[in-house]
Amino acid sequence: MSFQLNCPNCGKRAVSEFTFKSELKNRPAADADFSEWTDYVYFRENNMGRQIEWWHHRSGCQSWFLAERDTLNNTDHRSFWYEDLEQNSKDKDGES
Ligand SMILES: [Zn+2]
Repeated sequence: MSFQLNCPNCGKRAVSEFTFKSELKNRPAADADFSEWTDYVYFRENNMGRQIEWWHHRSGCQSWFLAERDTLNNTDHRSFWYEDLEQNSKDKDGES
């Protein structure tokens, strides 16, 4: 199945230019137990619907970014840098 993905640096391109890495997951603390690390490394939620995922623009600018994609129809809703996700989280928590 082919669709287009929006690189925050280059704009819309064919998905064949990109490599899918994983859905976005919170990294466990360095001292987390073995089961937390196993879950982080090997298991995925594989949601039906919207999820935020890591993508690499392999055949373009070589950037890693996040995309919110609907897994049911491969609709790309938005793409953004990880730093923007962090900033949005801080804004929601009332930090600046
Ligand atoms: Zn790019």
